[in-house]
Amino acid sequence: MMRVGHGFDAHRLVEGRPFVVGGVTIPFERGPLGHSDGDTLTHAICDALLGAAALGDLGAHFPDTDPQWKGVDSLTLLAAVHEQLVRHGWTIGNIDATVVVQAPKLAPHIATMRDTLAETLTLDIAKISVKAKTSEGMGYTGDGSGIAAYAVALLTSLE
Ligand code: MG
Repeated sequence: MMRVGHGFDAHRLVEGRPFVVGGVTIPFERGPLGHSDGDTLTHAICDALLGAAALGDLGAHFPDTDPQWKGVDSLTLLAAVHEQLVRHGWTIGNIDATVVVQAPKLAPHIATMRDTLAETLTLDIAKISVKAKTSEGMGYTGDGSGIAAYAVALLTSLE
């Protein structure tokens, strides 16, 4: 059996927060505001994985009202999502994701993000794709006020 899932996430970019994306911290003057570390890409991937398995969404599993998840490294959440998938008999086929942000330039960090995410998911790096886009100055991802990410995931199971 094969199942596809889609995930989306967005965070406001503010001063005084580290810029974390795909588990990688990139030097920048602003970072994503959030209850967790605000790792938009990792959150979109979590939602794509949960969506494919019809297991709800990230907010349902790790409520932002729960102090336990305050400032949490989102890779911890991704690993927990992966554990749930395994428990339900799912294997990840592949993940494809796009991050939309005007700055900083993400291209030099894509390889590290793929490496980090693949390691967290114990997945072959060839099965995880990360792409970076700007929105050419348009909207909240273009004027520097926010960052967005989209992801799709394919799950397979023997059932
Ligand atoms: Mg989020």
